[in-house]
This record gives sequence, C-alpha cells and structure tokens, in this order.
Amino acid sequence: MTTVTRFAPSPTGRLHVGNIRTALHNWMLARKTGGKFILRIDDTDAERSREEYVDAIRADLAWLGMLPDDEARQSERLAKYEEAFASLQSAGRVYPCYETQQELELKRKIRLGRGLPPIYDRGALELSEEDRAAKEAQGIVPHWRFMLDHDEQIAWNDGVRGPQKFDAAQLSDPVVRRADGSWLYMLPSAVDDLDMGITHVLRGEDHVSNTAVQIQMFTALIAARDETQQIPSFAHEALLVGAEGKLSKRLGSLGCDAFRERGIEPEAIIALLARLGTSLPIEPIAEIEALLETFELSTFGRAPAKLDDAELDRINTALVHQMEFSQVADRLPQGMDEAGWHAIRPNLAHVNEAGQWWALVTGPVDQPEFTQDDRAYLAEAASTLVWSDDPWRSLTGALKDTTGRKGKPLFLPLRQALTGMDHGPDMAELLPLIGEEEAHARLTKAATS
Ligand code: GLU
Repeated sequence: MTTVTRFAPSPTGRLHVGNIRTALHNWMLARKTGGKFILRIDDTDAERSREEYVDAIRADLAWLGMLPDDEARQSERLAKYEEAFASLQSAGRVYPCYETQQELELKRKIRLGRGLPPIYDRGALELSEEDRAAKEAQGIVPHWRFMLDHDEQIAWNDGVRGPQKFDAAQLSDPVVRRADGSWLYMLPSAVDDLDMGITHVLRGEDHVSNTAVQIQMFTALIAARDETQQIPSFAHEALLVGAEGKLSKRLGSLGCDAFRERGIEPEAIIALLARLGTSLPIEPIAEIEALLETFELSTFGRAPAKLDDAELDRINTALVHQMEFSQVADRLPQGMDEAGWHAIRPNLAHVNEAGQWWALVTGPVDQPEFTQDDRAYLAEAASTLVWSDDPWRSLTGALKDTTGRKGKPLFLPLRQALTGMDHGPDMAELLPLIGEEEAHARLTKAATS
C-alpha cells in the first residue's frame, strides 16, 4: 500500500515553526517510502482564509524543499461535503440543534457545577417534530451535530502514543455545520481523508480527541457511502515547547520569512525539526536522504519537543561550513569566487555575512595605529613579500628568520595591516585572493602611516 499523507493548513496566517514541523514529518513519511504528500488547503472559513496566505504556504514549502505531489482545496469540494452530510443525515447520524451560545454556556456551567463532564446533553434529541417546526417558524435556523455512538469504545493504535482508548459517552457530539451552512473542520477533513486515500494522519497531539470523534465519523461515512474506503492510521506528535518550557509567542510564531531574514538555511530548519522530539541525535545533516533513512515514528517521544533557537543557529553554522560554492554562488558578493568562498566559509555563521569578509579582500581596509616597532616590521614585510603558490608561508617564514619574531608578534601586525582586523579567515587562503600588488600596497601603507 502506498503511503499517502497530507498537510492541511488553514490559510488564515503564515506557517509557523509548529506547522512547518508537522508538514515536514508528513512529507518525510511519504518520501521515505516513495509515497504521496498532499497539500490540502483547509479554506472552508471564507471570511478568515486569504489567497495571499495560500501563496505564502506554497512558497514556504517550496523554499523548504517540501514540494507536495498534489494540492487540494476544501473550498472547491463543498459539494462533496454536502453529499456526505446528506448521507449521514439519511443514516440518522447528524441532528439539528437550536441552542444559542448562551444557552450552551449555561448548560455547561450547570453540568460542571454538578460535577459532570461539560459535554453536550443532547437536549435537541428530545425535541419533537412540532417543537422543531415551532423553532423554525420563529426563524431559528439549526446548526448540526454529529451523533456519536455511545456504545462503541473508540480505540486506535497511535503511531506515536501507542494504544489509545476513548469512551464515546464522555465526548460531546461535535457541531459539524453552523446555522449559516458553513462547515466546521471535522467533517470535511474526514471526507477528504477518505476520498483522497490518506493512509496516515500525522498531526499534533492537540488533535487527539478530534481523532476519537473523527474515527466514528470515518466509520459512519464508510458505512453510508463507500464500504471500500479505509480509515487512515493516526499518529500524534508531542507539541513543541521552548527550551524553558512553554513555547514563547516569539519563538512559536517564527516562520520562513523570519528564518530567511536571519540567514537560516532551509536545510538547518529541516535538520533540526526532522529529529526534534525524537530519540535521534540532532546533527547538522544536509542530505535529506540521510534524514529519511533514520526517520521512524517509533523514535518519536511523548515528552514535549524542545525547540532551542541557539541549537538552530549551531546547526546552521555547521551546515554553512559544509556548503559548496555552487549552492551559494548566487547569494555571494560580486567577484567572490570559489577560492574566496572556501577562504571565508569557516568564518560564517550565515551566508549573508560573506560580503563583510569579502570586503577584506576587495578593500579598502581600515588599518589600526601601529607602534614604531611594528611599522619597521611591516616595512620589512613589504620588501620581503614575494609571490609564490603559498605567499603567506613564504612571507612569514622569511620574516621569522630575518626578524626573530614568532607567534603573535609575527602574525598579528601582518593580519592587521592586510585586513584591518585582529582575527578572520585563514591568511594563507586570504592573501592569494588579496593579490600581490594590493598586499604590497597595504603593507607599505601600514609601514608609513
Ligand atoms: N486545518 C486543520 C488544522 O490546521 C488540520 C488539522 C489536521 O491535520 O487534520 O488544525
């Protein structure tokens, strides 16, 4: 059986790190076995859904390299939901309700006061045909609930949480359709999962009780519409938290734009999120194949996954140090070639810092004040400089012999004169890039300033 997964964002905002993680795991689950990953836009809420967010979701997935094999939109499938609803209605599995929000709130409070679970009391089921007609004659339009089967134990073997059991009688019959005819998330999602042949539903553990309810919806839909369809398997991953507990608003709302602006590579996000919350070590792995190979739901833990921003930076830095020139060429400053990239790469935490370091090659550099002693030393250096395959080694080797300097006094004034800095890329790699003429000019300038 081919694995078919889906990522089902509501286009009411940008993707944040939590959805990116869910998307990634669904993408990986499908990729690992050559399956299919579907992007399903959950846009039944016409008022809050925006086209610009749909575009942004697609662009973010593309930037992260998680291209869907297919895309579906709930707003284009409304007729399907209508049909499914009609079949549940014929099967007696949905029923009209007339309570207002205030009435429901009051009922809830009363139940809580009596120590009962605050679930819907199925008051609407007590209404006679005439009662309903009377309500409708008063202009009260019903909303609709799905009727759970209280006698059935709901159970599934969760891919992350193991065996799960729910007593249907302890759950509220969920509202599936509002009085204005619009859909709540649960029913359309179940219809889509069946129709699209979704084999695995992998989502956050905040959906566990939805799954309990949806399992009964799946069963009811299959019985009412198409006996050949199958309920997907479910897995619920632990939620993301910050390093110190709850996920802060800032960290939780981080999305691709913020990461990109900070110079975080998509590969770093993937390497971190692929293994966050699993028993596998988080490592700067750039090859998706390597991450896919070890990706297993059985490695996912039940404890919250701790997102540490500093860890993302560490992974990013390590990945930048591994990146090839061809991967970054279009983001480097004009004129910076492969040798330049190799010289500068070890100094970068982010690719966008390359320009800063490249300016040391192109100049002008801002030299410090030198002591008289160092100026004499640098004059010596200027006259010693001879070009070779390895001019830095020849220069420092010769200066060591002629001046008796070693260690810091030997190297630092040269680095300062040549780059204006106390630290930076390996001088042996940098000096050939600066070039003979320019290096000579910088040493002379330092010697005579
Ligand atoms: N649109 C739903 C959400 O964003 C989808 C949840 C699901 O994966 O079923 O919460």
